[in-house]
Amino acid sequence: MPDPRFKILTSASTSGPGDAGRTGSWRVERPIIDYSKCTPAKTGRHTCHLCWLYCPDSTVSKDLEPQIDLEYCKGCSICAEECPTGAISMVSEEEFTGGDKDE
Ligand code: SF4
Ligand code: SF4
Repeated sequence: MPDPRFKILTSASTSGPGDAGRTGSWRVERPIIDYSKCTPAKTGRHTCHLCWLYCPDSTVSKDLEPQIDLEYCKGCSICAEECPTGAISMVSEEEFTGGDKDE
């Protein structure tokens, strides 16, 4: 049975389109999750989810393998800072786009 304290936790914000909404074109770094280090992914249990809780733009899902919506992710690295297992790395966007900001 889930811990009842966990059930009352909610992410503080919701993502949505707007002036600062879709930020994929100006994000400098993107978070990459190594599921081999991620506690819910490893255990098959809904534990941790601190990345979901702390993301200021609510772009992380609360799945067993948390997914990050890169349409909205700002690349702020808070999730990487808060992840207790070091599962999230911030990687330069240039590694994915080759410097082309439209991708
Ligand atoms: S880098 Fe920032 S905006 Fe992107 S998923 Fe992590 S906490 Fe959320
Ligand atoms: S904070 Fe780290 S260990 Fe916890 S759910 Fe997110 S990626 Fe997994």
